[in-house]
Amino acid sequence: MYDLVIIGCGPAGLSAAIYAARAGLKFIILEENLAGGQIINTYEIDNYPGIPAISGSELAARMEEHARKLAGDSFIDDTVTSAVLNDSVKKIFTAEHKIYETRSCLIATGATHRKLGVPGEDLFSGIGVSYCATCDGAFFKGKNVAVIGGGNTAAMDALYLSGLCKNVCIIHRRNVLRADKLLQDKLFAADNIKIFWNSGVDEIYGNEQVRGLKIRDIKSDSVSDLSVDGIFVAVGITPASALFSASVNTDKEGYIIADETCMTNIPGVFAAGDVRTKNLRQVVTAVSDGANAVTSVRQYLLG
Ligand code: NAP
Repeated sequence: MYDLVIIGCGPAGLSAAIYAARAGLKFIILEENLAGGQIINTYEIDNYPGIPAISGSELAARMEEHARKLAGDSFIDDTVTSAVLNDSVKKIFTAEHKIYETRSCLIATGATHRKLGVPGEDLFSGIGVSYCATCDGAFFKGKNVAVIGGGNTAAMDALYLSGLCKNVCIIHRRNVLRADKLLQDKLFAADNIKIFWNSGVDEIYGNEQVRGLKIRDIKSDSVSDLSVDGIFVAVGITPASALFSASVNTDKEGYIIADETCMTNIPGVFAAGDVRTKNLRQVVTAVSDGANAVTSVRQYLLG
């Protein structure tokens, strides 16, 4: 019987592991992919205090190294397939046919990319449509690409791609970007980045691979063709909460409802990082959640 099972090994889960180890809790941390979560695919993180301009994969590696130094034995590579959370002894079931019993559980499963939902997106996924500029950008060296979205991810993707590709077109549905001002300034200063404002994507087309997309000018309702070799979709994230949403309360978008204490509606079940309701989803708020969650777990275990 564990004191705590942490599900997810992104910044929130790794931070929780560090705090749990230091608190002397009997715990495990389960992860199905590489440790680090979404930041593994982030080209550069420049807003984590004390570590300017570090690549996401390097920051993730440092966090993992720190957590493993304190609790290497607690790391388990396995996929959670279901969980029974309502009882005082919670049961976590995994793909390796293990059942982990625990007095408390921390859901730190993060979020995954959202789809655009237009014709051609699924058909050309992996053959011109990508959700990860740092993973796939090199395939489009010297070519023309489009980035869909106006948030921090779209801005960072466009900047990364501008260093590899001939031209980068950002297609954004409004006339202002959601991305941080610093990133916007860099976008506006880049010679090979063009922004299509008030523009939606109607369709992605091609033959064996992507050839272009149909762009709708939202104001005039006119449709035009944009010829590109690659399309990077960066239209936000979806919480990875589906496994737990039958028992844990979520909001209408699927984020697990929890405040800064990370407590959910179920006693002994906590949520931390991008998967929980919050105003700001960044590495710094995720690691803060990990620390707060373990503090709440300790209070819960003391009864
Ligand atoms: P986001 O901030 O939610 O931005 C999504 C963008 O996609 C928005 O510009 C949105 O338009 C647009 N969009 C959404 N649905 C769309 C649709 N169906 N069609 C066309 N456009 C659509 O998502 P994100 O950029 O992936 O960032 C996710 C979180 O991670 C945010 O909290 C972000 O701050 C954080 N993040 C931080 C950093 C960093 O600090 N270095 C880097 C990356 C991400 P509207 O603007 O019109 O809503």
